[in-house]
Amino acid sequence: MSNSEDYQLRVLIQQETIEKKILEVSKQINEDYKGEEVLALSVLKGGVIFAADLVRQLTMPLQLDFIQLSSYGVKKESSGDVQGLSVDHLTIKGHHILIVEDIVDTGLTLIKLKDLLLSKGAASVKIVACCYKKEKADASLVVDYFCFELGDDFVVGYGMDFAQKHRNLPYIGVMDERKDD
Ligand code: 5GP
Repeated sequence: MSNSEDYQLRVLIQQETIEKKILEVSKQINEDYKGEEVLALSVLKGGVIFAADLVRQLTMPLQLDFIQLSSYGVKKESSGDVQGLSVDHLTIKGHHILIVEDIVDTGLTLIKLKDLLLSKGAASVKIVACCYKKEKADASLVVDYFCFELGDDFVVGYGMDFAQKHRNLPYIGVMDERKDD
């Protein structure tokens, strides 16, 4: 499956469903962080659309920053080899950090990032993911908040790509292989 002729997109989670779920999850986050200042750390590129929607529902004093990570390249399986893990541009010490991720698959990306942030003196590190492949993810990773639990389908849209495409879809979709008639 390598180009747009090979597959068709099917809606898995509608835009309105995403919006409603974000309101629910953000309510919980607002309660949990009452009285704290938060550094929301959006994982680029996939997490940026979810982060944009989520942070606008958060009510505590908040800074928004970004980190670029990738373990996929143009494949549909995580390599586990997380590239570009540098947090030197961030002020971490003493901050309550909320990592905002599009999707947790194996969880390897976030295990490494969380450990690094804690080793640099973060006061706390929590994770909020739009999608969580719970059955597949490493059991040692705690995903503190998530909107949708998914199976092993490869999804696109709402920030998530296949070969850098489909991030702009307002819904979360699945790529079904096109069957020849
Ligand atoms: P992990 O380290 O959890 O295996 O990989 C997480 C990253 O892999 C996500 O931030 C995302 O970029 C990518 N990823 C994992 N599953 C999917 C998926 O189903 N669709 C897309 N588009 N990206 C995925």
